[in-house]
Order: sequence, then C-alpha cells, then structure tokens
Amino acid sequence: MQDVKTVGVIGAGQMGNGIAHVFALSGREVGLYDLKPEAIQAALAVIDRNLERQLRKGSISEADKAAALARIRPVSALSELGAMDLVIEAASEVEAVKNRIFEELRPHVKENAILASNTSSISITRLGAVSGHPERFMGVHFMNPPPVMKLVELIRGIGTDEAVFNQIRDLIVSIGKVPALAEDFPAFIVNRLLIPMINEAVYTLYERVGGVESIDTAMKFGANHPMGPLELADFIGLDTCLAIMNVLYEGLSDSKYRPCPLLVKYVEAGWLGRKAGRGFYDYRGEKPVPTR
Ligand code: NAD
Repeated sequence: MQDVKTVGVIGAGQMGNGIAHVFALSGREVGLYDLKPEAIQAALAVIDRNLERQLRKGSISEADKAAALARIRPVSALSELGAMDLVIEAASEVEAVKNRIFEELRPHVKENAILASNTSSISITRLGAVSGHPERFMGVHFMNPPPVMKLVELIRGIGTDEAVFNQIRDLIVSIGKVPALAEDFPAFIVNRLLIPMINEAVYTLYERVGGVESIDTAMKFGANHPMGPLELADFIGLDTCLAIMNVLYEGLSDSKYRPCPLLVKYVEAGWLGRKAGRGFYDYRGEKPVPTR
C-alpha cells in the first residue's frame, strides 16, 4: 500500500483549516477546497495565526511554519483532489451536502486513494456507498481544534478494508495523535456521550433551572470540565450540535435523544455560536455576555 504523501481537504471551515494545518506540519502536501473561495482565504489566515501561536510557544521553528504554509495549496475545483493519496471531507454536517461532494468526486478518484469523512455523526457506511469505494472509505474524526486536540476517532464502515483502516491508524499515530476505534453507529463514541450532555444543558436552560452562567459554572467547577457545556456548544457550533442530535434521534429511534426546542430556536435565529458572533453568549463585544 502506498504512503500518504498528499492530502486533500474538502471544506475550509473550523475543522478543515485545522486538518490542513496538522497534515501540512507533518510534511504532507495539502490541497484545500471549499465551495466558497473566501472561506479558503479565511482558513489560510487562521492557519497562519495558529502556526504563529505554536512558534511563540516554542513547539515549532520559523522554518517549520514557513514550510507548512508553503505546503497548503488552495484548490478551486473538487475534481483536482482526485489525484491525492488521502481525501478528507470536512464540509457542513448535512448528509445531502456530503453525498453531493462524494458523488462529484467519484469519477476523479485515483486508484488506491483513501477517502474519509470528518463527520461527527453521519453513517460512514452510507457515505462510503455513495463514494463508490466503500472498501477504501472510513471515518477520520478530528476533535476541535485539530492542532491542539490529541484524539482522532477512527470509524470503520461495514465495507472498510482492514488494511486501509490499519494504514490510517498508523498514519494518525505517526502524526502524534491518539486514535480511538469506533464501530459505525450514530455519532460514534465521543458525540454519543458529549452531545446529549450539551442538549441536556440546553434543556436545563430552557426549563430555567439555571441561567447560562450558572450552568457553565456548575459544570466547570463541579465536574472539573475545562469548558461549561453551553460555552462548549458555542465553540462546536449550534448547527453542528443540532445536526448530531437529529442523527441520534432518527438513527436510534429513541425519544431520549430529542433535540431541545431552545437549541432549535437558536439555530433558526442564526445564533450558531462563536463562528456567527452569537450563541449562548454574545461575542461581539470585548467579553462574552450570556444571552439568557
Ligand atoms: P464549518 O461550518 O466551520 O465549515 C464548513 C465548511 O464547509 C464551510 O466553509 C462551507 O463553506 C463548506 N462547505 C459547505 N458545503 C460545501 C461543499 N459542497 N463543498 C465544499 N465545501 C463546502 O463547520 P465545521 O465545524 O468545520 O464542521 C465540518 C465538519 O466537521 C462537520 O461534518 C462537523 O460535524 C465535523 N466536526 C466538527 C467539529 C466541531 O467542533 N465543530 C468537531 C469534529 C468534527
């Protein structure tokens, strides 16, 4: 099996920029594609800033930073990524969007290329089927932000080839990450546990058991979580949190996963969290201010 020397990243949002950053720093050539060209430019600026932070901390050198930036190439057509050894899709958490991407990529994928999705919850088996190459398709689920978080959840679709799975596991270990292996069930391991907790925090707010600050303070100082659940929800993106709850609710047909109506309302308002400037906190001023 050939080494992974080139990596295509689809979607240049919060996760796509971090995944491109990690692979470029590991010495791979990276092609970065997004539907919106301005998202690629914004991602390059974020990557520059985040590499600068690592440089100031002394974890990388000036030469490492320059080389990593030089390895990331903006790509204007999805078809160009067909030539890459590994393609990771990190577009919005909407199955129809991901399906369209893999359908469009399908005729261009070179022989032996490995395809992956960074999805937080959607069936790897279904996406693998759409890709046309289920044996070389798997879930490679980075945590937010990818340059900082150690874990990468690796998800095996029903058709994923064992050799492909093992090759990606070795690659993930070689770039300094810690893999956790998961079978393909809705939301896998991390989000099966994490997102229902966040949803319950939103119910606690909805039922006025506590305000935003009380809920976050309670979990930060009472359960020793580094971030409160509502602050974390804003960090993840409320649209992503809602999409994952819907996958759990529909995929497991269990009412205990019903999304909180208040979470739905925030998403409908476009209050998607940090990336939108407002969510359970308003980030538009100097300090985040709770919105409830
Ligand atoms: P985001 O909203 O920050 O970015 C999504 C990007 O995808 C946007 O730039 C958008 O323009 C682009 N996009 C949409 N449709 C596209 C298409 N057809 N082709 C190419 N690009 C397209 O979202 P994100 O937080 O980066 O999440 C991306 C993926 O990573 C989702 O599947 C999400 O579930 C997963 N994920 C998110 C987190 C998190 O904490 N946010 C953590 C792990 C995994």
